[in-house]
Formats: sequence, structure tokens, C-alpha cells
Amino acid sequence: MPRRITSGFFGGMINQDNHIHLILDGKNYKEAVKRHENGPDENYIRSVFEGYKQRGVKYLRDGGDNMGVGIYAKHIAHEYGISYLSPDFALHKKGYYGDILGKSFEDEKDLEKRLDELEKSGADFVKIMASGIMNFSDYGAFDGGMIGEDEIRRYIGRIKARSFPVMVHVNSDASVRAAVLSGADSIEHGFFMEKETIHLLAEHECVWVPTICAVGNLVNNKNMRGADRNVLENTVKKQIENVTYAINIGCRVALGTDAGSYGVSHENAISCEEDLLMECSWDYEKMIDISNKFLWKKFGGK
Ligand SMILES: [Zn+2]
Repeated sequence: MPRRITSGFFGGMINQDNHIHLILDGKNYKEAVKRHENGPDENYIRSVFEGYKQRGVKYLRDGGDNMGVGIYAKHIAHEYGISYLSPDFALHKKGYYGDILGKSFEDEKDLEKRLDELEKSGADFVKIMASGIMNFSDYGAFDGGMIGEDEIRRYIGRIKARSFPVMVHVNSDASVRAAVLSGADSIEHGFFMEKETIHLLAEHECVWVPTICAVGNLVNNKNMRGADRNVLENTVKKQIENVTYAINIGCRVALGTDAGSYGVSHENAISCEEDLLMECSWDYEKMIDISNKFLWKKFGGK
């Protein structure tokens, strides 16, 4: 894959990352979480914000955590000239993927209780996990279980009824389709979509945040035990093809990196995603900038 040489992001057009995990540091999940075991580690949060400020980043949307880090950070972000949106914790169905960054619910009644919590805590939007995570040794397969399309519709319907914007972590064609049709405001990751589903996204003005670098960064990572390099490469290739198609048909594609997740550092995530977006469109900066602004408004950002 050709790669543009970047000198790091500064002063470019893109000053927004719509999918970060402030709580994580891109290195070690356990150690990152330990940092906050006695409450959000203010020094760490401030150092991450300072880094973003130095790199000219002004808008950050978080993917949630279950230690109160994001919701705390929301109140100090402005000191760094950053507008920051937090879902507080992400939601997942009990027994399915999502434990590490969120809180679970068992059924719809339970989901309503979680939504009460989020209304009280001042979450800017709701994040829900509607599918598992990719299995990097089996192309197109997922770990962590897949909830049914019918359930996806019911859960997102409940969230929308509370007037929350909704960010949906979802992969696989059928699951993405169900999420878009039930009113998802943004689709996170969205790997393995078919073209018809990309058209649905465009029709519904649902924003796609493809987080290509979250997988792209793993291709050359020698510590990926059990991962098949071909699977990683083909997954990235398919995503680049889909993003190219999406931009061409006018689908709203916004930039999000999954910064903080394994192998994706807060320092260079945006420039890494830009390198990959550049392979999708020579005009990507303009397109992404328009979609970023659209997403921000949709999610109530200032
Ligand atoms: Zn994420």
C-alpha cells in the first residue's frame, strides 16, 4: 500500500477526531485502566489534552469508559481550547462485547435505567455496542457475540425516544443496516458493509466513522499474536474500497481513529487516519471537513 510521508498533523485542515478513548494510551489496557482506579487521573488527562492542543486539535468525541474519566474530562477540556463530547459509559447487552469500556443492560427495562443514569450524569450522547469485534485470524468473523437485528432496532429506538444522539459501534453488513434503519446518528467502524448499505447511510444522512487506522496500524505490529497478516491487510483493503465508494456517492464520512485502543497512539492517530483517507480520495480533506462539521452539529457539539 502506498503511504504518504507525514511530518505529523499541525495546522492542517483536520482538527477533529470523532472517536477517541481518552482513558486508554494505545499501549497497555490494564495499566491504562489502573491509572484511574482511585478516580480519574487528572494529571494524565491534562497531559493528553495538552498534546492535542499542541497539535492544533480542537474537537474530540470520546467512545466512553466505565471509570468516569470521560465525563470528568468534559469539564476541563475547555481550558485547552478543546470542545469535547462524552457518552460517559458505553452500553452493551450483558454477556456481549463491551465490558471494557462500558456498562451492561439485560433487557429493555434495564436499558431504560441506564438511560436514566446517562441523563443524570450529563452524557452528551449515547454509545451502544451493536456487534462484536473483528477476529483477525478469520476474515469477516467476529468475537464477542452478535446481537440480533431486531434487538438492535429495539434498543436504538429506546435511545432515540429519549432524544439522545446515538453513536453505534457496529460491524457486519446486516447489523449496520439494522442500526442505520433504526436511526443511528453515526456508525463506528462499519467494517464489511455492502454497497447497498453504504447507499442507505447516505440516504439517512447517517455519518460513517470508518476508523481505518485502528486496523491499519496492526498490519505491521509484530505483537499481534494469533492475527493473520493477510486477514488484516484484506480487511483494510476492503474498508478503503468502501470508504472510496462512500465518498464518491456523497455519503458523510467523518474522521475518527479509535485513538487509545491498542496500537493507536493519541499523538499520531489523526495523521495515520489521514494517510489512509488519502488513498480513498485526493480531495479527502474537504470532504472530511464537511462531514466532521455535520457530525458535530448532529451530536450537539459547540
Ligand atoms: Zn473505539
